[in-house]
Amino acid sequence: MNSALWLLRSGLSHPAMPAAASGTRVVMTYGQLASRAARIAGALINKFKLKPGDRVAIAAKNSPDYLALLYGIWHAGCAAVPANSKLHGAELGYILEHSGARVCFASPGTDSEIAPHAPKSLERLITIGSAEYEELFTSDSVDVAPRAGSDLAWLFYTSGTTGKPKGAMLTHRNLSIASYAYGSEVDPVSPGDAILHAAPMSHGSGLYIMQHVARLGVQVIPESGGFEPDEVFALFNHWPRMSLFAAPTMIKRLVEAPGDCNVDNIRTIIWGGAPMYVEDCLRALDRFGPRLAQIYGQGESPMTITTLTKQEIADRDHPRWRERLASCGRPYVCVEVIVTDADDNPVATGETGEILVRGDVIMAGYWRNDEATKASLRGGYLHTGDVGAFDAEGYLTLKDRSKDLIISGGSNIYPREVEEVLLTHPAVREVSVIGRPDADWGEAVVAYVVGQAPRAELDALCLSHIARFKRPKDYVFVDALPKNNYGKILKTELRAQDARRVKSPTP
Ligand code: AMP
Repeated sequence: MNSALWLLRSGLSHPAMPAAASGTRVVMTYGQLASRAARIAGALINKFKLKPGDRVAIAAKNSPDYLALLYGIWHAGCAAVPANSKLHGAELGYILEHSGARVCFASPGTDSEIAPHAPKSLERLITIGSAEYEELFTSDSVDVAPRAGSDLAWLFYTSGTTGKPKGAMLTHRNLSIASYAYGSEVDPVSPGDAILHAAPMSHGSGLYIMQHVARLGVQVIPESGGFEPDEVFALFNHWPRMSLFAAPTMIKRLVEAPGDCNVDNIRTIIWGGAPMYVEDCLRALDRFGPRLAQIYGQGESPMTITTLTKQEIADRDHPRWRERLASCGRPYVCVEVIVTDADDNPVATGETGEILVRGDVIMAGYWRNDEATKASLRGGYLHTGDVGAFDAEGYLTLKDRSKDLIISGGSNIYPREVEEVLLTHPAVREVSVIGRPDADWGEAVVAYVVGQAPRAELDALCLSHIARFKRPKDYVFVDALPKNNYGKILKTELRAQDARRVKSPTP
């Protein structure tokens, strides 16, 4: 089934309902959005001669146009390739070449970044808002192209924290299942409810578009096109029952921001994509009340592996509340999640291993990369590359990715455990723990700290909470940690920085 049918249905039945807003201003109703999508589809088919299955990229900042483009691409039977507009021109060029996109819609500014890196396969680079772009909406509309559930809908390029990004092939079925799961388990949507897209729509936030289209929600796009705490607060004050998907670093910024908002207007703040430390979660809970939910997912299983619900996060009276806060919740009902050893055999409850997932939400494979597909989907399960353990009550706790595990003196040390402890110090704003090659220990634990806490106090804190061998052998105080465009800390980059530092130490 073509995902575009959800918009068609909403546009037909409720043409006057608000569909998209720029800040506080409604800019498109459902009737208008459906009509724009049908016209873009007409242009793709009749003007550009695209065929079902052809890829069309969107390299754009968040904007209401994003919705018309995404649905227009599906309406035409093509597959969307949303790419983060903050990427470098060469990185965008790689995605365009690798996906074989024939057309790319780009924001002003991103277009000129792309131009010198545009591959030969790209026939048109169209600037959103240009005269050429606006003219596409005068095209005759076409009917929604028939698509099977197994057809490609979204090529989801991974954020590439290691190596070149891979294109996870998400089908229309994958997107439907992810959307049902969100609506039924994380955040039920009622007509008129709003969703704020302050995180890139090319990634996690974009996956929440569909459920809101199906349920007649309003997609609110900040006028800044991105994440500014003051603007987020102002929008929460304006829109009743609004949800927000945010990376933990964004939530941390909201908690620390001086402004304020009417928290009663907030439906849900969903975090995911990176760990939220317990201390940060407690602060967020104090600030925003029982409105936080967690999801754990990845592009390959579009934001749908486990979830920790609002009720579980707010249930302070539960005897295992804090442990649960440190977990990423229970599997969504649409997936089977197991934890396995290196030979893919399930390990006992409580034991740590790789997290494997199976279900109708899992990608069809990696685009043009059979080798990676075979490795990732072997045995019928998605191999997440994440390491974790189930407790006896079925809650999954994520440890670090296997490549981030530190082996010191023959013992395994999960950086997150050390980070959680260091973050309880009031002067520690952010922290990232890595292993530094060491002649005696194999690896030595090193903590990069944003904030100015005395070393002795950090040492004492560790000694009172975790085994002595896990205590950092060195603390490095920095102004900021290396992060990618999604706000994820880049440990690979941090290790490289650390190696340079050790080679030529600064006084
Ligand atoms: P991406 O596909 O770029 O969204 O990255 C997915 C990865 O982010 C996962 O494989 C995890 O390593 C990490 N991740 C996602 N959600 C969470 C979460 N709730 N807690 C900790 N790490 C997460």
